[in-house]
Amino acid sequence: MKAFTFTLGLRLAAAAAALLTLQASAMAADGYVTTNEAKLETIFSQAGFAAADKIDIRFNRETSIVDAALTTIDDAADWTKLNGLAGNLASPMVNMYFVDKILWCGDPSLTTIGCAKTPGNVLALDSSWAANATYGGNLAGHELAHNLSLEHLLPDDGSNLMNPTISTSSKLTAGQITAILASALVQIDGAGKFITIQPIAVLGAAPIPEPAEWALLLLGGAVVAGVARSRRRGLRT
Ligand SMILES: [Zn+2]
Repeated sequence: MKAFTFTLGLRLAAAAAALLTLQASAMAADGYVTTNEAKLETIFSQAGFAAADKIDIRFNRETSIVDAALTTIDDAADWTKLNGLAGNLASPMVNMYFVDKILWCGDPSLTTIGCAKTPGNVLALDSSWAANATYGGNLAGHELAHNLSLEHLLPDDGSNLMNPTISTSSKLTAGQITAILASALVQIDGAGKFITIQPIAVLGAAPIPEPAEWALLLLGGAVVAGVARSRRRGLRT
């Protein structure tokens, strides 16, 4: 582990920025999860990974937090808060946050769609970009690779996953693959090498329960009321 950490953002090409503008009208304030698991597994088991080194990506069940200020990461304080949240899983687990917008990642920027500690185990993704069929998997893979210790690769020519501007290339060099495999985030068990990721949606307000959940809540309330009545009658359960 390096003695310092820093953040790196993923930039948008001009054409992609135009797409972002198109999507802006459909964006909600809440973050939402798109795991891109299949694409991540393609990236982290691509040609160059030996058979025994191919990495399985394992997602925990989706969770959420409610924090209206964090649906848009727009300054250092937001980023620091996201990294210090009590619910974050300790390394070797990756905490993958899905937010509405990222306007800050180490420096003010209007064109950042992902942000990650390098190395580290916290990253944030713009929800609508993570859901983008063309770029979502590469966005998640790029930020995950930052957590795995990779820095940006220059020149920014669209030939590598770690170019600072997002592209459709998810290629990694032999040196990058060696660095990834040295990360403590890459674990191993009887099934082989794997990385565990906790997906977390950042919500602006507490979600309204679905009808099925309402039924459970009502049932829970009934049980609580029943217990209270039992206690009043001096009964034990
Ligand atoms: Zn980056």
